[in-house]
Amino acid sequence: MTALMVGMPRARPAVAATGPAAIGDPLVDTHGRVHRDLRISLTDRCSLRCTYCMPEQGNEWLARESILTLEEIERIARVAAADGISTFRLTGGEPLLRRDIVDVVRRLSAIEGPAGPVQIAMTTNGIRLPEVLPDLAAAGLSRLNISIDTIRRDRFAALTRRDRLDDVLEGIAAAAASGLAPLKLNAVAMRGVNDDELVDLVDFAIGQGAQLRFIEQMPLDAGHTWDRTQMVTRDEILAALAARWTLTPVPGRGGAPAERWTLDGGPHTVGVIASVTAPFCGDCDRLRLTADGQLRNCLFSTTEFDLVPVLRQGGTDEDIDRMLRSCVARKLPGHAIDDPGFLQPARGMNAIGG
Ligand code: SAM
Ligand code: SF4
Repeated sequence: MTALMVGMPRARPAVAATGPAAIGDPLVDTHGRVHRDLRISLTDRCSLRCTYCMPEQGNEWLARESILTLEEIERIARVAAADGISTFRLTGGEPLLRRDIVDVVRRLSAIEGPAGPVQIAMTTNGIRLPEVLPDLAAAGLSRLNISIDTIRRDRFAALTRRDRLDDVLEGIAAAAASGLAPLKLNAVAMRGVNDDELVDLVDFAIGQGAQLRFIEQMPLDAGHTWDRTQMVTRDEILAALAARWTLTPVPGRGGAPAERWTLDGGPHTVGVIASVTAPFCGDCDRLRLTADGQLRNCLFSTTEFDLVPVLRQGGTDEDIDRMLRSCVARKLPGHAIDDPGFLQPARGMNAIGG
């Protein structure tokens, strides 16, 4: 048995075949997984340089003309929504660096799928949020995830290679005051970097009325320095938290990446996204669109499906639909990080879209 078996899709009833799939049919892969979530990377650029994501310098940015326009993104999103995608998560790079970010949110939030209006979520480092959040909320943003791995200034500067902790804290405060809920804070747990700060991060999140979610570090850094033996595991994170709180699993996870626990019986909760040691591929309902128009069916996929010729050389919406279906049809059962033959994708996390 290979590591591919871990977290593989469970057997599901076959979907009745009534003819070739077309716009309006759900995006079901060969393992029965129905896709409802499209993560849209708006740029590969960023205001920070987190060590686990980007190189300090020497990054080769995507050419400006290769970045999808607002109209191109909207067109793909309309077809995807008709096919049952109900959540668009805007990410990057740093999505708030995109100048037309408010228009992106406005145009996408106006899209309706078969089950009604879509939800627009965003993952951001929070910098610039105080400035743009009122407009984003008015444009239809549904909810926010903000990344913060440490609340100590020196560590923040070393980890992100930028001394901008105050900007991030102001972004989190603005999000907390905005009432957009639930507010989630993401922290990648790292050995010798912030693994002595896990309880403090949860306390900080509670103080902001937010839910902390720890992420296991994945092999997606631009420098390819990830080491399985060095990563902080789900079990280590839980052990650190259990020293302070009684953790009780929250049932009903569905397709969500985070497992959740209540702290001392609630109401506060903490989440862990254990992509490496407890993969949740069997319930994955996510697709990804890179800023330069490549569809991906997995963070760790080494294959991309190029929508640019379809968009820029007169392709139809049916062609976009077919590309979505080809991408979904080739989705593997699991990511195989633990397989000896695992190949890290060529792009770093900032270019794939986290
Ligand atoms: N710049 C935004 C931010 O940091 O929230 C959005 C893009 S970032 C790539 C999205 C998420 O991916 C962040 O929560 C970040 O911590 C996470 N991430 C980046 N590289 C990672 C890695 N190698 N392993 C695990 N999570 C990673
Ligand atoms: Fe930028 Fe987000 Fe990557 Fe950090 S994790 S470098 S904030 S894209």
